[in-house]
Amino acid sequence: MKSYDLIVVGGGPAGIFAAGFAAQQGRKVLLLEKNRRCGAKVLITGKGRCNITHVEDDPRNFVEVFGRNGKAFLTALYAFGVDNVVDFFEQRGLKLKIERGGRIFPESGDAASVQKILDSFLDVSGVELLNSCRVEKFNTADQKICSVVTTKGVFSANNYVVATGGLSYPETGCTGDGYDWAKQTGHQVVPPQPALVPIRLAIDWAAQVSNFNLKNVRIKAESQGKIIAERFGEAFFTRDGIGGPIILDMSSAVREAIKKGKVNLLLDLKPAVDEATFDRRLQRELESQQNRNFSKALDGLLPKALIPIFLRLSKIDPLKKCHSVTRDERKTLLGLFKGLELPVSAVGDFKKAIVTSGGVSLRDIDMRSMRSKKVANLYFAGEMIDLDGPTGGFNLQVCWSTGYLAGVSAAG
Ligand SMILES: Cc1cc2nc3c(=O)[nH]c(=O)nc-3n(C[C@H](O)[C@H](O)[C@H](O)COP(=O)(O)OP(=O)(O)OC[C@H]3O[C@@H](n4cnc5c(N)ncnc54)[C@H](O)[C@@H]3O)c2cc1C
Repeated sequence: MKSYDLIVVGGGPAGIFAAGFAAQQGRKVLLLEKNRRCGAKVLITGKGRCNITHVEDDPRNFVEVFGRNGKAFLTALYAFGVDNVVDFFEQRGLKLKIERGGRIFPESGDAASVQKILDSFLDVSGVELLNSCRVEKFNTADQKICSVVTTKGVFSANNYVVATGGLSYPETGCTGDGYDWAKQTGHQVVPPQPALVPIRLAIDWAAQVSNFNLKNVRIKAESQGKIIAERFGEAFFTRDGIGGPIILDMSSAVREAIKKGKVNLLLDLKPAVDEATFDRRLQRELESQQNRNFSKALDGLLPKALIPIFLRLSKIDPLKKCHSVTRDERKTLLGLFKGLELPVSAVGDFKKAIVTSGGVSLRDIDMRSMRSKKVANLYFAGEMIDLDGPTGGFNLQVCWSTGYLAGVSAAG
């Protein structure tokens, strides 16, 4: 049986960082990845552009977006923060750029350039990589892992890092294997849930405007008379619903609310102006085009793709002259602009989830080292731990930071 200082299971961003940084400390490291190549998920991140991380002014503010478990992430973030990530990629020749809202992307706009750097990092660091090798089982003795059983044989090491990701986008290799091993070795696993998911809508016109981008809009989610979430920014219609950053960030709240009752999204297409101001604008528009058909009056107010939808939903005869549009009809129109009702039918599942929330409980991990509190020679990193954030590069930062910390701790 071949033996190593460290075995890392899972060749995603977290596992690659753990393996590479441990090898840089002079350790003999084996990385086991069940796909033919590492980093399959990296290629689809940020719509193929990879939002590597997020501008950070103060780590204490940065961790707040992770909710109840954010504070526990501070040590890993101090160990390998946003600046370290930026240096890591820039020193290896990848130019980065900051986009709206503090999102950091490769200037090339190509996630493959990130994957290439990760591949070469493993190579240069001297990590032994075994692709197409699925880990099936961990053997334990005396509260320690003593070996891993894989499709390519049995391997042993002094220490082990598990970084097998969550359950989202299973076609990238994430089938939750790590959760089973964690449970078998006595760890609590907070039930995994799909997070950052598109929302399906009970409307029959979504496909008509599929992929249409809604920029600078405000969307509120309303349930039982209460606003349960609200975001400003970008969204887009999909074939059967709505997606995009602000929708993904509201999806967990919507998922919870829909278990208890009906949820409506209210889309405000003109969030910069209040209702009274926009009503005056509508009046002016109708007056200035009084002898034209109503359908023409919408040209200056709405993107082309949405005009047929508004005509249908407003129930105003498109051939009616603008001067004969009634006050009530104008109020209906105003309601569509300022609060277009989008009834929710369902929230997407793991197949379309950007991340998995839940995972190995942070109570069972020493977050100063990423070492298990249950098994002395076992470490966890990346999406499989109970830590997930909103869109914007936060989730990859978890992988870089916890992967680094797990690797150097396990090598120490
Ligand atoms: C469509 C999409 C877009 C995203 N965009 C962004 C973005 O722009 N910015 C951002 O911050 N985050 C983004 N994310 C989230 C981010 O990609 C993940 O959080 C991150 O990839 C998790 O990294 P990881 O190393 O923990 O796990 P993964 O990347 O999931 O890697 C785990 C690896 O373990 C391997 N594995 C699993 N089981 C076994 C086994 N039994 N034996 C051997 N190997 C195994 C898998 O094949 C996989 O390669 C996106 C996610 C998706 C799905």
